[in-house]
Amino acid sequence: MYRHIIVGRGLIGSAAARHLSAWQDGVAVIGPDEPASRQSHDGVFASHYDEGRLTRIYDPEPEWSITAARSIVRYPEIETESGIAFFTPTGFLMILGSEDPDIKPTVALARENGGNTTVIGANEMRELYPFLSLPDDCAGIRETGTAGHISPRALVAAQTRVAEKQGAEIIRTTVTGIDVQSSHVTVTTGDGRTLQAERVLVATGGYTTAMKLLPRPLATTVYARTVLLVRVTESAAAALETMPTVIDRFAGSYVLPPIRYPDGQLYAKIGIGTEADAKLTTTDDLAAWFKSAGSERNRVELTDVFESLIPVLKNCPDRHTDSCVTTFSKSGLPYIDYVAGDRLAVAICGNGKGAKGSDDWGYAAARLLEGGDWDHPVPRFKLKAVFA
Ligand SMILES: Cc1cc2nc3c(=O)[nH]c(=O)nc-3n(C[C@H](O)[C@H](O)[C@H](O)COP(=O)(O)OP(=O)(O)OC[C@H]3O[C@@H](n4cnc5c(N)ncnc54)[C@H](O)[C@@H]3O)c2cc1C
Repeated sequence: MYRHIIVGRGLIGSAAARHLSAWQDGVAVIGPDEPASRQSHDGVFASHYDEGRLTRIYDPEPEWSITAARSIVRYPEIETESGIAFFTPTGFLMILGSEDPDIKPTVALARENGGNTTVIGANEMRELYPFLSLPDDCAGIRETGTAGHISPRALVAAQTRVAEKQGAEIIRTTVTGIDVQSSHVTVTTGDGRTLQAERVLVATGGYTTAMKLLPRPLATTVYARTVLLVRVTESAAAALETMPTVIDRFAGSYVLPPIRYPDGQLYAKIGIGTEADAKLTTTDDLAAWFKSAGSERNRVELTDVFESLIPVLKNCPDRHTDSCVTTFSKSGLPYIDYVAGDRLAVAICGNGKGAKGSDDWGYAAARLLEGGDWDHPVPRFKLKAVFA
């Protein structure tokens, strides 16, 4: 019998495994590796199969800012202990209206949480980032040092490696059933194993509701998201050398600077997420979406946005789209809570921005399972799970 089983080895589950296995023995984490080929895969997919996620302390919502800050501080120790690099501190820039009332309070919040976050005007932005085409009446929120991008693939690999070094058992398979009994929880896997634990944490991201692993479904919305990847030529890459991660509030989109992908090429990535995106509810919906190239409507919108914001990318004709999913809660925060007595808990719902602070959401989940005093700055009641 294990003390703790974590189901789902994505960004939050692998972080929870690292924290729990630092404190206690008897930890197992169950979840498959990324499939080698999406088309021939007939199991689950995940929201971290990529090389770039924006990270920064700046966030208008205090809970997201503080968890990002606490995670970013720990990135160096995770990189050192795992020997896997995942953070590139290119900095962050948000482009927004110069009179935007959010500027003052949100920058103050980021600074309180340790961000080197400042406000700059359009002229300074043009000097620092000459490749951006900006409207006259705009301002920039800039963060350096603590902001940039992480490779979510590499972060999962790093968390997994440290958890394993600390004694956690890594079980690379899929869970098909969870049965809560009065004295323990039984977990069954797709490859025919039956495992038991005192407590189980479910961190299965977008698959949680569709896989029906919980005794009662939670209120989650899984959106089909599309990103556009632009292969950056050598000359465009030189022009974009100082490019930070960018959020353009006017267009409602984010852009990542050129990042090296597994095919050896540099790609800039742009994405948008809106409520007009399709909602996915079944495992068939999810699999079909992950095997698709995403939405044609998004491709057209995204092309318009990046060509007007970063004109040098017009000279980069090799482009393709990719699909992913984001999982939203009712509360706007992750659900990190028990859902069946004190045996079965969840840590789900990244709300489209769960990568940057995933280490600290994993910490909160590990704390919940361990059962010690709640010592997280986000009060426990705010992370309460809402049933459907
Ligand atoms: C296009 C896109 C862009 C994004 N950009 C950003 C960004 O810039 N910054 C940011 O902070 N966040 C961003 N996010 C959000 C971030 O990637 C997610 O919030 C994060 O991946 C959520 O982590 P998770 O652990 O909940 O889910 P996942 O990372 O998806 O992990 C869930 C894991 O559960 C496993 N699993 C599922 N079912 C089972 C099962 N039955 N048995 C065992 N294992 C199972 C899966 O294999 C997977 O490994 C983005 C997301 C998308 C889609």
